[in-house]
Amino acid sequence: MQSDYSRKQLSDVIVIGGGVIGLSIAYELAGQGIHVSVFDQGAMGQESSWAGAGMLPPARSYRGAPADVQLRAASHELWPIWSARLREETGLDNGFRKCGAVELACDDTSARRLSALITSWQDAGIATEQLTKQRAAELEPALGADFCDAYSIPEFCQVRNPRHLKVLVAACHQRGVNLFPGVPAFGWERSGDRILAVQTVKGRFEAGQFVVASGAWSSTLLSALGCHLPLEPIRGQIVLLSTKPDLINRVIEVEKCYLVPRGDGRILIGSTEERVGFLKQNTSQAIAELIDFGRRLVPALGQAAVERFWAGLRPGTADGLPYLGTIPGYENAFVAAGHFREGLHLAPVTAELLSQMMRHEKSTLPWEAFRCDREHAETGKPM
Ligand SMILES: Cc1cc2nc3c(=O)[nH]c(=O)nc-3n(C[C@H](O)[C@H](O)[C@H](O)COP(=O)(O)OP(=O)(O)OC[C@H]3O[C@@H](n4cnc5c(N)ncnc54)[C@H](O)[C@@H]3O)c2cc1C
Repeated sequence: MQSDYSRKQLSDVIVIGGGVIGLSIAYELAGQGIHVSVFDQGAMGQESSWAGAGMLPPARSYRGAPADVQLRAASHELWPIWSARLREETGLDNGFRKCGAVELACDDTSARRLSALITSWQDAGIATEQLTKQRAAELEPALGADFCDAYSIPEFCQVRNPRHLKVLVAACHQRGVNLFPGVPAFGWERSGDRILAVQTVKGRFEAGQFVVASGAWSSTLLSALGCHLPLEPIRGQIVLLSTKPDLINRVIEVEKCYLVPRGDGRILIGSTEERVGFLKQNTSQAIAELIDFGRRLVPALGQAAVERFWAGLRPGTADGLPYLGTIPGYENAFVAAGHFREGLHLAPVTAELLSQMMRHEKSTLPWEAFRCDREHAETGKPM
């Protein structure tokens, strides 16, 4: 880590936020020969991106697919490519792998939702297999019988996201990105429709272009530019259990709750969705409910050790889509925030899209759907 701040004031691009989104953008731009600096108010990659579960559900585009499906599908294709490239460049493995998933429904309502999800996957040509109780038990013998519908999704992937962030930090270093951990940004210097510098606790830093990628905290910096977006933190709590390896091998998901086996005996149980502002603490009720959920699905988890638990703040938006593109009124300021439950999954495509926009290249993806000034973006309707 360098500490010569003055030398680092000469960046082509400054990214504010060193989560998976900001680091991926920095990595991508640096690969294009652009000199990038990343500022984070804390340590790099320790917020939502660290706290997430790392699930990467299959996605494929089709003729007439909505913009969010196209975005997800493009990113899903990029994950193995990015993981291999990062490994080549750093020698580090981010744990990306195809682990498969079993999607379950436990009552009529969840069965209807699951059926719609399965249909959308099938329409996109994604393999699914409906499972009898016997077939489900063959695939995952530890699974309890507390479900009414089950499907296997063999193409479901996962990444060890804390490892991925370490790999991204190493790759950014290798590509010459300047990383400034522990340096909050709090304001801007402007002239007309250009940002001249970002103000931080370590002074002002000039650059040709600026990107706000500050996750759930992005609103303050954006509002200071007159860009008021309905972005808010949505807390998610996770419990990590430790048990014997191979107790379960696939992600097991029931609507928004899931078990994610890491392959070494660790199993994540997630997650809650709570609107509690910037409170990042765990609650005894959520932890108890998550453990209970896990035990109902896989009774043997009753004997697993509780290793730790944590919470993260997802960047939620009113319409569930991220904001990607220029900040209205400024020709050299960009935003990449609001990825809610999918920021890990969407990080590679976000980085490539932002890099194309910032270098004035034509994009093959319909990024207009993610503009800050899109319809409904400022309605503030509840999430
Ligand atoms: C429990 C949970 C489970 C999840 N599971 C998944 C999953 O399975 N798959 C998936 O794809 N996604 C998942 N997500 C969502 C995903 O983690 C987020 O969408 C993603 O991490 C957002 O990345 P980010 O870089 O925008 O935000 P963050 O990772 O929060 O990074 C933003 C960074 O900006 C910094 N910052 C903020 N303000 C300032 C400032 N003023 N100056 C400098 N720095 C600043 C912060 O310190 C932070 O490091 C999950 C999230 C949670 C909480």
